[in-house]
Amino acid sequence: MTRLLVATRSVGKLAEFRALLAAPGLEVLGPEEFGLVYEPAEDALEAFDTFEANARAKAAWFAVQSGIPAIADDSGLEVDALGGAPGVWSKRFAGVDGPDHEVTAANNAELLRRLDGVPEASRGAGYRCVLVLRWPGGREQAAHGTTRGRILDAARGTGGFGYDPLFWSEELGMTFAEAPASEKHRVSHRGRAVATLREVWPWG
Ligand code: IMP
Repeated sequence: MTRLLVATRSVGKLAEFRALLAAPGLEVLGPEEFGLVYEPAEDALEAFDTFEANARAKAAWFAVQSGIPAIADDSGLEVDALGGAPGVWSKRFAGVDGPDHEVTAANNAELLRRLDGVPEASRGAGYRCVLVLRWPGGREQAAHGTTRGRILDAARGTGGFGYDPLFWSEELGMTFAEAPASEKHRVSHRGRAVATLREVWPWG
């Protein structure tokens, strides 16, 4: 059995990765399960202005701390009418720090405020995900995934995490928060990036 560490402290992301990475012979662990307690230095890892640079920094940190392979995701929402914002700054869009549910509520309120008065036809948006799988020796494999939709003017659904209640998926005809997890994973940025990575990883 090979152990793989998911380099995230986000409860929502970790839950998605457990489902997405399932493979024979692979044990998927979060940092706490591996015994890695939170260190403030982790907050400084996402200091770059591209998803890939941030994902590389997180994967390298957790692979070195643990001594086992680590997979990191850097992802975000890119809104056409906002010139691609919040992008790499999706997690801290509203500038609020604190428990996940408070940060999410503030970010979603900020998104609605910025799009106030923007008509439906101009509310196009996409999620983007970059994955980096880092081996203890330093070798890395990266994979990208995107999905398109638009931003509603009110939340719908209770599933998913982050901006999902506001993200209407064109492919599913519902928000990511209304979709069953397996449906979200089939078309999501993260699901697509994992599918690409699976083509080159050794676990089948
Ligand atoms: P980071 O990759 O840890 O910097 O954070 C990514 C941020 O992008 C999350 O905190 C969410 O705000 C947003 N995000 C990324 N993927 C998703 C998703 O699948 N659903 C909802 N929000 C997402």
